[in-house]
Amino acid sequence: MVTHPVQQVVSSKGASITNEEELKNKLVTMTRIIVKERMFGPFGHISVRVPGKELFYITPGQFGNKQGIGVDDLVGVDFRGKKVSGANAPPRETVIHTVLHRRREDAAAIAHLHSYYATTLSICGMKFVPLHVNARPFVDNPPPVWVDADLIITEDEGEKLAKFAGNAPAVLMRGHGAVTIGKSIEELLLVTLTLEEESRRLIETASISTVMPLTADEFRHFKHRTLDLDRMAGKTWETCVAEL
Ligand SMILES: [Zn+2]
Repeated sequence: MVTHPVQQVVSSKGASITNEEELKNKLVTMTRIIVKERMFGPFGHISVRVPGKELFYITPGQFGNKQGIGVDDLVGVDFRGKKVSGANAPPRETVIHTVLHRRREDAAAIAHLHSYYATTLSICGMKFVPLHVNARPFVDNPPPVWVDADLIITEDEGEKLAKFAGNAPAVLMRGHGAVTIGKSIEELLLVTLTLEEESRRLIETASISTVMPLTADEFRHFKHRTLDLDRMAGKTWETCVAEL
């Protein structure tokens, strides 16, 4: 198995690492975490936008060995959806990322995965509700369900999906998967893992008892310091990296 440095690496130029290189390394790290969590099968992709540029990097399409993806395997794509760097082909559904990166300032990092529990929830006909205090990212904007199960491959389809998402940090895609969004890679990891965990909790709870969701009012009055999103994202990242 090919291994890659988990945290920062020294630039091949020997100089201090650039922001762009650091982002690419973080994208590789997040990919490895999602593989380890068994949420990244043959399909799905993750991207990160480069601040100040109309450019993002995305994991390649049709790349069987996701665990082995390195920075050189990433594909650079501009805001028109055109590949600008990398030897690999971009994924077929790259337009999901192109449109969201272009439209939403808060969409700095995006994942589209076919993860099991989020996909299962998408076909249950149940609305997503927060069940755990860690569901904080979804309290104000619970993920809506995009009903069309087909792939998103045209600009028009991407625009419609982005418009449908509104300001939500995630969209469940019926019988297909989910899109998750973060203002940083760390927040994307938090949103992605929490969506899967809360989807599982909801499905399992509903199968044995009445669900008693937490309310927005409860969240407003919680004393937990850990409910600060940046703090939650940082802690989640730190824990997952340590477990790699
Ligand atoms: Zn897909």
